[in-house]
Formats: sequence, C-alpha cells, structure tokens
Amino acid sequence: MTQGGAHPSPSGALAAPEGFPLLAHEAAGEGGLVYLDSAATTQKPACVLEAVDAFYRTNNANPHRGAHRLGGAATEALEAARRDVARFVGADADEVAFTSGTTCALNQLAYGLAGLLRPGDEVAVSLLEHHSNLVPWLTVAKLAGAKVRYLVPDRQGRVPDGEIDRAVGSRTRIVAVSHVSNVLGCVQPVERIVRAAHDAGALVVLDCAQSVAHLPVDLHALGADFAAFSGHKMYGPMGTGALYARRGAASALGPLLRGGGMVEAVFEQGFTFKGFPAVLEAGTPNAAGAVGMAAAARFLEALGMEAVHAHGEALARRMAAGLAAMPSARLYGPGPDGAEERCGIVAFNVRGVGADLAARALDRRNVAVRAGAHCAQPLVRHLGAEAVCRASTGVYTSERDVDRSLGAVEAARQDTANLMTSAML
Ligand code: PMP
Repeated sequence: MTQGGAHPSPSGALAAPEGFPLLAHEAAGEGGLVYLDSAATTQKPACVLEAVDAFYRTNNANPHRGAHRLGGAATEALEAARRDVARFVGADADEVAFTSGTTCALNQLAYGLAGLLRPGDEVAVSLLEHHSNLVPWLTVAKLAGAKVRYLVPDRQGRVPDGEIDRAVGSRTRIVAVSHVSNVLGCVQPVERIVRAAHDAGALVVLDCAQSVAHLPVDLHALGADFAAFSGHKMYGPMGTGALYARRGAASALGPLLRGGGMVEAVFEQGFTFKGFPAVLEAGTPNAAGAVGMAAAARFLEALGMEAVHAHGEALARRMAAGLAAMPSARLYGPGPDGAEERCGIVAFNVRGVGADLAARALDRRNVAVRAGAHCAQPLVRHLGAEAVCRASTGVYTSERDVDRSLGAVEAARQDTANLMTSAML
C-alpha cells in the first residue's frame, strides 16, 4: 500500500499533491487547481482510497453478525479501525463509536443528553458554532424548557475568560463548543472551558470537526466528556465520523437510533441495550468507511500532527499578511501577527465585491475557496457581514498556492472595477 503522499513535496507542501489522485489529475495542465476548501472537505490520499478498495475486495461481510471467516475478518477490520481512530485523538477504543459524521454525532449527543435538561436549565454554546452544534441544542433545549446561552468571542474570534465565567454557572447542564472555528480558524481555550464547566457540574461536548485535521488532539488531556469529528475533513472518506464518550460519561447518553446491533435482548414488550459504543451503532456500519478513516488517521500520524499544525498555521499567517496588506481586502478573525494559536483557515472579503462573486472570480483563476455563511450564520452576522470568503489549507497546500490565491484576490477586485467602468461608459 502506498504512503499516499506522506512525504514532503518540492513545492513546499507538507505532503506531495501528487499523492492525492484528484489533485494529481487536476494539476495536469498549466495553472492547475489551487484547492483552498479543505475545511469543507479534504482531498483524499491514495492510501485512503486503497484502504476502502481493499476492504471491499478482500474483507466485505457484515461485521459483528456472521460466524463465518469473512464476517470475522470484517469485524477485525472494523475494530482495528476503531483502535487507530481512538489512538489518533488520545482516546481508548471502547470510548469511540463510529457515526456518519460530526452532524450525526452531535445529534446523537443532543438527543442522548436531552433527558438531563429541566425547565430553567441552560446549555452554553459559543457564538462561533457551526449550525450542526447549534440547531440540535436549540431543539432539545426548547423541548425541555431550557435556554441556550452564548459565549461571545473577541475580535480575534477567541472566547475570553470573562465570557466563560459569565455564561457558565449553576444553571448550566451542558457546554457544547467548537475546538476550532470553521470560519475563523482560531483555537478556543478548551481546557479553561472544560474546567469552568466541570466546576459548575456541567458536561462538556467538543465539536472537533475542524481541529482533528489541524492540531494534535488529546481528548483525555483536554478532559471533555464527549466529542464529535468527521472522517472526511481529516483526509478520510465522506460518510464517516466518530463520537467520543469519556469512560464514565457514556452512561449518561441514551441512543437516538434504535434497531439491530445495539440491543442485548428483545422481547414482545421490551428490550435491553448493549453498552457503549455498540448502543450507538444501530444498523450495518460503514465498515469500509471506518477502515478508510483509520488509514487517514495513520497518514496524519506519519506526517506528525505538530508538523501539520505548524504548516497550516504558517500558511494562514502568510495568507492573512497578504490580505492585510491589500487595501481592497477585509480580513476577519486573527490577524497575521497575533500570538494566538490558529489553524489553516482564513476568512476575508473583497471590498465592494460580494463574497459569492469574489469566489467565482477566484474560481476562474482555478483557485477554489468557499463563500457564504459557512453554516455559522450567528457568527457571520456578529462579524457584520452577510457572507465571507474562506480559504482553508490542507497538508498538500504550498506557499506558492497561497501566493497564487492572493494574486487572484487582487485580480477579482480589478475585474469588478473594470466591469463598473465599462458599465458607466
Ligand atoms: N462542526 C464544524 C466546526 C464543521 O466545520 C462542520 C463541517 N463544516 C460540522 C460541524 C459538520 O460536519 P459534517 O458535515 O461532516 O457532519
């Protein structure tokens, strides 16, 4: 099996883009693709594609069901994947349930913990949350007569200590926050939030969708009770993800999906559940996807998460510095020189040009960025914008890619100025 690009590239990328079949294909011509939409989904290294393919070619059977040889091989492949994914985030295998992604895991958590909420209780979230870590809490809080309270970030996008003290208190039952903002790329003070929540007797849910691909994440060290993350944002397949429950916290969690595989015994008028993680894995699992996600975890471990973090942070600072020096650009969140920890995600707008138009102008120059509210409408509104452009890097991104995208931003502004001039003539 290939290492799938887990070696440095002459272009300055941390992993050679040639090791990612789609990027290799796209870069075939002049002015190849600069893919700066890794926060939406990363491109996949060859080792991940090969792992998924190999599962279907050699191990395909329904795990945890058949007594036959192939059923055993599929079960072993799934459980080996669980061990790898757990190790990658500093957890034990019996603390990790596979899900279809972060959204699925966060819904399982919100509905699974809803029984803890009483009228007058509070769920604390930050104003930076992705809708997937907000809408489920708004829903279960409303059903229980509880309230959602917000931790408001500072200008750099980080929740200050004073906000944590203000919003987390004796009424708080659950604190649900993102580790890294999918819009601004800033890293939240999670240890401080966990301490305040536990002092208040509340449980902590971490949305690690963006952190696991960018930072070394050690869930035991962070001390969170629960966490959620997606495989497809960490170089693994779509439709994969995980829900972490700290040993001892899992018993607080009821299952959302019910059916085959999660019950111990079923009678005409009742049933008993299995323990965690099986209790959250009703139905046939995406075993091939889990195997691919584990391959992605090993791929990132081979690169070294410290190196991955340093690479993304340096690219984000280069991008932010370039934008800050451009009178036509407006940068949101951390500036280029701030001391705060950040990941390879930068939000900006081109003055006088709508975010969507700017992203299309970049696309004409083969630079892919995302424009919109990024499923974080309360945050984007808080920034005073309707939409922003977001450039997000991966391990295959180089300084040359960042410089090309900065050139495209300048050209996008020029395009619009030219259009306006010709409209006036
Ligand atoms: N939370 C954050 C911070 C995210 O960035 C995303 C994906 N954009 C999600 C949750 C949802 O992840 P998924 O779509 O993989 O379920």
